[in-house]
Amino acid sequence: MSQAKKRILLLCAGGTIACRPSQGGLAPALDSQALLEHLSTMTAAYDICPLDLFSLDSSNIQPEHWQTAARCIHEELQNHPWDGVVMTHGTDTMAYTAAMLSYMLENPPVPIVLTGSQLPLEHALTDGYENLRCAFAMAASGVPGVFIAFQHRIILGTRAVKTRSSRFDAFESVNAPLAGTVSAAGLRLNPGALPEIKGEFALKADLSDRVFLVKLTPGIRPEIFQWLADTGYRGIVIETFGAGGMAFLRRNLVECLGKLTARGIPVAAVSQCLYDGSDLSIYESGRMALQNGIWDARDMTTEAAVTKMMWCLGQQPQDLRSLFFTPRFGEISPER
Ligand code: ASP
Repeated sequence: MSQAKKRILLLCAGGTIACRPSQGGLAPALDSQALLEHLSTMTAAYDICPLDLFSLDSSNIQPEHWQTAARCIHEELQNHPWDGVVMTHGTDTMAYTAAMLSYMLENPPVPIVLTGSQLPLEHALTDGYENLRCAFAMAASGVPGVFIAFQHRIILGTRAVKTRSSRFDAFESVNAPLAGTVSAAGLRLNPGALPEIKGEFALKADLSDRVFLVKLTPGIRPEIFQWLADTGYRGIVIETFGAGGMAFLRRNLVECLGKLTARGIPVAAVSQCLYDGSDLSIYESGRMALQNGIWDARDMTTEAAVTKMMWCLGQQPQDLRSLFFTPRFGEISPER
């Protein structure tokens, strides 16, 4: 007896995968129906329902779009028996969207898999088909959560970073093992890498867009932080040197940031190093930062930390700090 095909919702948000050459350069042009017409091998295997969300280069995807996407996915999953969701999206900000959807969609009942490509689907060398094949396989897997599927890798939405601007293996899973891989052996999931999901499915789409990311440079002037607070920013993420270094001599960043935390403006430190994260307990400057109320975001990626701060500020929690440090979908490891 043949098995019923898995029902997959295909949400299209634009990106290179949907691009065509235009006079002004590559621009999103294929809508979800046009995209589907290219996918005959996949429509043979899955029951796919296309739906247009946006037609944007992902540089233009902003917090309002994350909210629209989360609300749409929530509504679709409440009202239709989808086995999974595939969302095509530009690669440039896909890691931010995937992290934010991981926070906004609490306990999703099915896999929600973002993918895209480095070359348009209609390009002779496109990587789009391969990525879509992997995304559909993951979406049909029955394993709930938000993921990115790219170049045979399945990555937790909170752990993905775009590390390459043109090579096909554009995304890495940073400070966390791959959630799965796709090969001739099929989709192989890594159970140890999959956070447990239990509880009611809920939409938590409120956020604050007043979060600023600062990459520290030698000589950066501390006044910038005061200025950010005065212009209405409500949270700051700093990319620190190495394990969490920041200047406290001559230009005292630690003291200036401490004044912000005392005003109730959260400051979280991540590392400028892509791998291994920060540990503010190691060096004098890090310890001073901790004493000044700066949070050590440890092994979080910059994308996961910025979006988590935005999301936490939207929840009006009793305890912002504890919300920030409570993992929602594997974005931070337990304290070492
Ligand atoms: N600029 C494109 C975007 O992010 C790049 C891509 O999709 O690969 O929309």
